[in-house]
Amino acid sequence: MFDKILIANRGEIALRVIRACREMGIPSVAVHSTADSDAMHVRMADETICIGPASSTDSYLSIPAIISACEVTGATAIHPGYGFLSENARFVQIVEDHDITFIGPSAEHISMMGDKITAKETAKALGIPCVPGSAGGVATLEDAKTIGAEFGYPVIIKATAGGGGRGMKVATSEAEMEKAYRTARAEAKAAFGNDEVYIEKYLQKPRHIEIQVFGDGQGGGVHLGERDCSLQRRHQKVFEEAPGPCITPEERARIGKTCADAISKMGYRGAGTIEFLYEDGEFYFIEMNTRLQVEHPVTEYIFGIDLVREQIRVASGLPLSVTQDDLQINGHAIEVRINAEKLPEFRPSPGTISHFHAPGGLGVRMDSALYDGYRIPPYYDSLIAKLIVHGRDRPEALARLNRALGELIVDGIDTTVPLFHALLQEKDIHTGEYNIHWLEKWLAAGRLS
Ligand code: ADP
Repeated sequence: MFDKILIANRGEIALRVIRACREMGIPSVAVHSTADSDAMHVRMADETICIGPASSTDSYLSIPAIISACEVTGATAIHPGYGFLSENARFVQIVEDHDITFIGPSAEHISMMGDKITAKETAKALGIPCVPGSAGGVATLEDAKTIGAEFGYPVIIKATAGGGGRGMKVATSEAEMEKAYRTARAEAKAAFGNDEVYIEKYLQKPRHIEIQVFGDGQGGGVHLGERDCSLQRRHQKVFEEAPGPCITPEERARIGKTCADAISKMGYRGAGTIEFLYEDGEFYFIEMNTRLQVEHPVTEYIFGIDLVREQIRVASGLPLSVTQDDLQINGHAIEVRINAEKLPEFRPSPGTISHFHAPGGLGVRMDSALYDGYRIPPYYDSLIAKLIVHGRDRPEALARLNRALGELIVDGIDTTVPLFHALLQEKDIHTGEYNIHWLEKWLAAGRLS
């Protein structure tokens, strides 16, 4: 097992990893920018080291700063969390070249899945069902129109190097293709420095269903069912649950096995998520995330498994602590993402927390890095807390979410908490009848203000 783990991240996910390390008896090292000297992850880790100024490019994204931090502190492994360098294949290669263990998949698997066209080709070859669309990149407007005609409108034009929902444009007819195609390429170039795009059939009312997988790196792999993350704003998830309200045990077993077999064949190591759009009983692969997801706690709750602990075990060469047969679903879990944002515009609202009180009680988990008097720096993501609840079934989880939200106090800044109070008033949330467009439509109808 590792002598010391450095966590190349900040905020709630850095705390999450520190907690797993502490339970495993492994000393942890927190890295931080000058803007984060007072951050909770810095207070909680066994050792801390400043790696640069506030700008994440010069701190949390600086590969030399992080490698130096390992050398100075004697850390022998790096946990990347999510975001920042977690899916950067070059970083992983450099880490390994320095004889440090990366707690995650190989650089090769990360780059394979980081490029969306290669990811889709790989998925198809592994027997994973994909959204119908172009075979590879679409280099000209003429080709784009031919594909539109072949698959039928509407279609979605997506950046090969995409992420975070950027660089995607929908064309509902050939007349719209030119503008959509050119805008998607221009946005892809601006956001990712690569203007290659591909085209998919645009699904009208899908749900976002993702399968949690775990590979042992030795040709073994398991799946931990699905999460439904259909409630999204601007392609960003805000409310996630497991199991999916519309997925049957048979569907779960079938798609789960397809995914577990695929990662076994790849020889994949560590945690991963295979994302699908789900419509009319069919799954369509959209991408694979080669890291721990923000919403991993809902899966942890229903399976009673610490996914970070499994990541650390597998990275150190130990087998997974569970087999597929051990993985039985217990109850229902829901996560809501609490952002420092002012509603109804979702405008970032950094500032000082004058008072913070986390809810508690049976089946309530609060993953956050907040404390009384904490000053949220304006430089980073606006996610400040995740409230996760577990119940014996979905109605109990929803009632618990309502109760826990009522106990939560975050004073001094604006947050997205009122969004969840409002959502819990909606019948569709209680029946589970929503798709990826539900929240945008609800917001556009002015239901929040
Ligand atoms: P990113 O990596 O930028 O998050 P994804 O490929 O994962 O991009 O897509 C993000 C979101 O965009 C999906 O969750 C879904 O809401 C929407 N989307 C992507 N592809 C399609 C499609 N073919 N049809 C309908 N919606 C789509």
